[in-house]
Amino acid sequence: MSVATAKVQVKDMVVVMKELATEAQADAVVTQLVEMGFDVHRAMGGNRIVIGAVGGGQGDPALIELWDGVHEVLRISEPYKLASRSFQRENTVITIGDVRIGGDEVIVMAGPCSAETVEQVETTAAAVKRAGAKVFRGGAFKPRSSPYSFQGLGVAGLQMLREAADRHDLKLITEVMEVAQIPVVERYAHILQVGARNMQNYSLLRELGKVRTPVLLKRGLSATIEEWLMSAEYILAGGNMNVMLCERGIRTFESYTRNTLDISAIPVVQQLSHLPVISDPSHGTGRRDKVVAMARASVAAGADGLLVEVHCDPDHAVSDGAQSLFPQQFDQLMGELRIIAPAIGRGICVEPASRRGWGH
Ligand code: PEP
Ligand code: MN
Repeated sequence: MSVATAKVQVKDMVVVMKELATEAQADAVVTQLVEMGFDVHRAMGGNRIVIGAVGGGQGDPALIELWDGVHEVLRISEPYKLASRSFQRENTVITIGDVRIGGDEVIVMAGPCSAETVEQVETTAAAVKRAGAKVFRGGAFKPRSSPYSFQGLGVAGLQMLREAADRHDLKLITEVMEVAQIPVVERYAHILQVGARNMQNYSLLRELGKVRTPVLLKRGLSATIEEWLMSAEYILAGGNMNVMLCERGIRTFESYTRNTLDISAIPVVQQLSHLPVISDPSHGTGRRDKVVAMARASVAAGADGLLVEVHCDPDHAVSDGAQSLFPQQFDQLMGELRIIAPAIGRGICVEPASRRGWGH
């Protein structure tokens, strides 16, 4: 067989339909791709239907381009497929009620490392709301480096967190550590957080692919960007497309800070992937006096949101007190972000609630 006539069998591809392609043509393409052994995912790319074909199949792009309604077939060369910009050019926007993550507005998620008491949760929720946070954070199941450290309040903590979030019209993000916890955490949380230590817990990721609650996937302590995107791929491949990525600092040779917040990961991931990128300057530095500067830098670098630890009494916090901001510091930070975000064409919530609107 000459080179010119050799069939090029491609394993992963994106089939871009013509602008005027009909639903019936798209359905026919999907059916044929499934028959060829592909797992198929549909998305909209602008006003075109885009069909991702991954998994076990093989096909010749030149032949598929001849099918009715097909505009072009792109090969995906990255090992992650559904997370890549080749699959979806437009940014993913995750909508939770009136909160849009990945859109124009920078979304700030703030709250304590752990739920401790009803009063602590309530006071902190009120403070972060007043300052302009849209999402309340707090852990009830805690992944602690030591088995002797506080492990979280469990379901009682989830209840406290959700009640406070509802009282202040905040959405709730909280961590899910294992498969068995998914149903109960899903009952209380609007966003399921996968902690850094669980980034490569593939059975957990697979199960999170089966639910439809948005997932925030933290970067592992020593994970490369590619490994991180591959972990996101596990969730996406299950059909849960509501995934956001969170840079929370990586382990380097530097020991002055708890971790090294990789701010360059923000623009790198935004180029490679359509998924929203959140920055966590609290775990990223481990020190309260460095959190504000890195939060500002993250927004300037283009982060779609922040995850910040704030505690009403950080010096007595049961976990991560040293990196938790005082409410007043958080309030001041929000004021600074209202200057930075518009400078790069982003909005940010202007609170108090009575003055709600955009920062530009
Ligand atoms: C947390 O958000 O409190 C947490 C435990 O984060 P990480 O998984 O990034 O250490
Ligand atoms: Mn913490």
